[in-house]
Amino acid sequence: MKFWFIVGSQAMYGEETLRQVEADAKEIANGLQLPFPVEYKVTAKSNDEIVRIIKEANYDDECGGIITFCHTFSPSKMWINGLAMLQKPWLHFHTQFNESIPNEAIDMDYMNLHQSAHGDREHGFIGARMRMSRAVVAGYWKDPQVQKKIGDWQRAAVGSLFSKELKIVRFGDNMREVAVTEGDKVETQIKLGWQVNTWAVGDLVKEMDAVTEAEIDVLMKEYESCYDICTDDLDAVRYQAREEIAIERILKRVGAKAFSNTFEDLHGMRQLPGLATQHLMAKGYGFGAEGDWKTAGLTAVVKAMYPDGNTSFMEDYTYDYKHEVILGSHMLEVDPGIAADKPRIEVHPLGIGGKEPPARLVFEGIAGKAKVLSLIDAGGRMRLIVQDVVCEKPFQDMPNLPVARATWKPMPNFLTGLECWIVAGGAHHTVLSYDITDEAVQDFARIMNLELVCINENTTTVGLERDLMLGDILYRR
Ligand code: MN
Repeated sequence: MKFWFIVGSQAMYGEETLRQVEADAKEIANGLQLPFPVEYKVTAKSNDEIVRIIKEANYDDECGGIITFCHTFSPSKMWINGLAMLQKPWLHFHTQFNESIPNEAIDMDYMNLHQSAHGDREHGFIGARMRMSRAVVAGYWKDPQVQKKIGDWQRAAVGSLFSKELKIVRFGDNMREVAVTEGDKVETQIKLGWQVNTWAVGDLVKEMDAVTEAEIDVLMKEYESCYDICTDDLDAVRYQAREEIAIERILKRVGAKAFSNTFEDLHGMRQLPGLATQHLMAKGYGFGAEGDWKTAGLTAVVKAMYPDGNTSFMEDYTYDYKHEVILGSHMLEVDPGIAADKPRIEVHPLGIGGKEPPARLVFEGIAGKAKVLSLIDAGGRMRLIVQDVVCEKPFQDMPNLPVARATWKPMPNFLTGLECWIVAGGAHHTVLSYDITDEAVQDFARIMNLELVCINENTTTVGLERDLMLGDILYRR
């Protein structure tokens, strides 16, 4: 992915000034240290030039979005027709080539050249007037803090484009009677682009039967190199390898980057996929248990935004009111991408579902600041709920808990954090991310036009309820 730098100006300044604008713009584009490169494209001087470059940006699959900056004044009526057809994320970078005003060198030529203080206000007006979805970042272009904000937006832009093409495979339906994992798949596709469809568990079993022992041997070698095998029941581990190979084969055939399944629909399967699902998550696939395709999709999107990050499907499991922490885990499927130490492969009975004891990875999650994200269907719209949390080292070793787990404190404090989450309708399933920032969350929600509810150190229950009421007015249809 590349981001296109489009610099606003106009013809009346003359050749010499426009040449300087172009040279400065190239220096800015090349000087930005960002997750994805920025390429100078054009100094836009007319309606036709702007329409042309926006059309190209829309249809170039490698263009992640446009970054605009008005080095000089650039009259905004020239921009209306182009912006009206923009289909890529837009960041208005309100910067200036020079950091300071030079005492001796400043004259009227300098003033004509370095005009973003008013040129970018004209540009900002048309964005506001057209009610365009765009990020605005102000600051000197060499400032690392400023570049960090642009980087956050780039990640959100890449996530949004990934989202528009995301396919999610559901093996079986949702867990029976559960409400929060349901949702309007048509609305989701209109809003987020996700193509959510079902594949029969029987077809997965057929695919599993076709997996050869030699193929399983290869994957077993990979398990040995990534994990400590702490079981004698290698047959159970090999069965997970068989499941993983078959699931991935179907995902690749469909072109899907996320999947869901449910322990209630394993017809013909001997084990609930545990290790299989965990290793697939480590490879970058999104996952949601109990048929939770919304969390599967959201996990995949966050992984696409932070390919080298620490992201996992997660579930709020049980509380310690005395230590004021949430123990997060799942019956099996926690992503080894958040493991603090080398995961162990173990085999234990599941307790529900009536299947054979499945092999799974067991580990502790890493400590540090993180966020939990939940996407719910609020009726006619999707609501993204994001809460800041602090993951902690566990205060006890829990030797008889045979699943991967993480422990965290929710913000703004334990009890208010719990109350806010419940009031907002956040699910028990979440995406746990150690990487995603406030800016990236806001940028993603703005690009996708999602209702966003943030719960952080500044949140109060009164403020949150007001936000939810405003959301109801804004998004009700
Ligand atoms: Mn669950």
